[in-house]
Amino acid sequence: MSILVLGGAGYIGSHAVYQLIDQKSDVVVIDNLQTGHREAIHPEAKFYEGDCRDIEFMRKVFSTESIDSVIHFAANSLVGESMQEPLKYFDNNVHGTQVLLQVMQEYDVKKIVFSSSAATYGEPNSIPITEDIPTNPTNAYGETKLTMEKMMKWCEQAYGIRHVSLRYFNVAGARESGEIGEDHSPETHLIPIILETALGQRSHITVFGDDYDTPDGTCIRDYVHIEDLIHAHILALAYLNNSGKSNIFNLGSNQGFSVKEMIETARKVTNRVIPEKLGERRAGDPSILIASSEKAATILNWHPTKNSIEKIIQDAWNWHLNNPNGFNKDVSNE
Ligand code: UDP
Repeated sequence: MSILVLGGAGYIGSHAVYQLIDQKSDVVVIDNLQTGHREAIHPEAKFYEGDCRDIEFMRKVFSTESIDSVIHFAANSLVGESMQEPLKYFDNNVHGTQVLLQVMQEYDVKKIVFSSSAATYGEPNSIPITEDIPTNPTNAYGETKLTMEKMMKWCEQAYGIRHVSLRYFNVAGARESGEIGEDHSPETHLIPIILETALGQRSHITVFGDDYDTPDGTCIRDYVHIEDLIHAHILALAYLNNSGKSNIFNLGSNQGFSVKEMIETARKVTNRVIPEKLGERRAGDPSILIASSEKAATILNWHPTKNSIEKIIQDAWNWHLNNPNGFNKDVSNE
């Protein structure tokens, strides 16, 4: 029996495939390579190139492979873009998940681990954020993730498909052994942008606002190492395999760091000059997001081991230093 990883060529999905293969699982990957990289797919995974909205393609994969459970990463995930093009997000994220659930129901696959987001909460009314606070997304991306969660809830009632929804906080870092890492185009995330600046690929990092109600005025986020994050997916699959009921878990580190602290730490880790400039606030950025991951600790037995920001930045830096052009080896770095 195989585990199907949708979006297994993307940043988070590819790290999941590597860890699943480390633990000797059979893995089938589906990816449309819209934002993923062929080079990021583990060579031992069985790869189908196609789109999860294409029901005939999905039926072909489900009828060819013997799929036991699904981990679903395939989604568009840029907050800013989701505000400009919400329908693209509803189509790919929500409709794509609808087709996936339809095919799971047809082929009697009853377990899914789903990549959700802290963006489902919006501006939280209390910190740290627990799973029971109200969900009020402030952007279309977060709304699609919440809608996907709700769709799964009804599919459980109707078809008995159990799900674990994992609400990620700020995922960063790279696989320790260095084969894969983060490579987005365009890049919008803080840590890769800081490291591209350290490499001299950008002249500076722009700090989006320093007048927030935080100690140094810059936004505070909760960073979680990609390897720890993926380990939670493996525990979530084990939980579903042990008849666990559908559930939602935050994945963070229970600690927050400001944008300025992240830049300062990156200067120490890389030992490079990282010029910064002050810019405007970015629309839709909440001032502080810190997870409580107590629930994942208690129920899934998830205990992150790599959650110092030095470690997260160090592993991301190793990847950037060795792969300054990401997966595109042909581009010269002159
Ligand atoms: N940020 C920044 N400059 C950048 C990119 C991000 O100041 O070039 C800030 C952003 O405003 C937020 C934090 O860094 O407060 C983390 O942003 P990111 O896009 O990495 O993740 P998000 O919190 O949006 O999921």
